[in-house]
Amino acid sequence: MGNMPSAVKHCLSYQHLLREHLGVGDTVAGALEPAQVTQLSGFPEYVKIVEVGPRDGLQNEKVIVPTDIKIEFINQLSKTGLSVIEVTSFVSSKWVPQMADHTEVMKGIYQYPGVRYPVLTPNLQGFHNAIAAGATEVSVFGAASESFSKKNINCSIEESMERFEAVVKSARHINVPVRGYVSCALGCPYEGHIAPEKVAKVSKQLYSMGCYEISLGDTIGVGTPGSMKRMLESVMKEIPLSALAVHCHDTYGQALANILTALQVNPILPFSLPLSSSFPPSLPPFLSPSLLSSLPSFLPLSLSSFLFPSLSPFLLFFLSFLFPFILVSLPTFLLFFFSVLNFAF
Ligand SMILES: [Zn+2]
Repeated sequence: MGNMPSAVKHCLSYQHLLREHLGVGDTVAGALEPAQVTQLSGFPEYVKIVEVGPRDGLQNEKVIVPTDIKIEFINQLSKTGLSVIEVTSFVSSKWVPQMADHTEVMKGIYQYPGVRYPVLTPNLQGFHNAIAAGATEVSVFGAASESFSKKNINCSIEESMERFEAVVKSARHINVPVRGYVSCALGCPYEGHIAPEKVAKVSKQLYSMGCYEISLGDTIGVGTPGSMKRMLESVMKEIPLSALAVHCHDTYGQALANILTALQVNPILPFSLPLSSSFPPSLPPFLSPSLLSSLPSFLPLSLSSFLFPSLSPFLLFFLSFLFPFILVSLPTFLLFFFSVLNFAF
């Protein structure tokens, strides 16, 4: 997502959003918590841009860009207000000749205060080379597609995870943050459609091993707002929204639409919340988590389980929220309510 102007950050100031789009005055806007505003506006409080032009952009150029031009390019990007610029990739020059000068570029750039300069490291060797060249943040890059993983980094997804684990372990040892990429999150050049569950699985593995942020890449730009939404909803069941990023290619002119969709994905997903944590605060007190967790003990006596022997009242309760606008909702909810009364009295 390298082409978004840095002004976007200012446009998404929550007071601005409330004033311009929701007609709310400054006094009210100032009194609201950012999380409340996020819910009201549907947009996050701010957007972090990770500029990947020097790596992803130049890597895809047929002509090899001279090292001094790359260094000058990165130095100029540093003056634009960007907070993160991905500099290069410490891969073998045999695989990616465009990045063969990674050490010279990393050593040659001026590292501006307040700007972070991550680099890609496919394995331990790449990691050590990157650190020796002055890198203070690295990224590992996996894929949600088995075929792409084999073609791109020459190993299976499982093998790649073992390599990344070694990198993350070494990085944590010296307090170097690691970002995780998941390529082919919305489609693969070899396999076509990629199931959102596959993306969620690989993302969870990277997050669990210690990557602080997971960047979901539409590597070949075939994503649409619909597939972006489905994929994110699947991944959000496994990883906190605050640890997710999207990486969108504009191959078919969909990148900005896909990014907008990602910004609008509702951060509150009631069905992904575990019962033991927080329920939506608007729930009536009689539906407290503690009461819900006590439900199984009286299930056989409840009216709903009598009428719907194959469905538990617990499931019916969730169904009543799942289909709030269809006829089945009200009676289902009432049945659940009566089952609670049945228990209470
Ligand atoms: Zn890319």
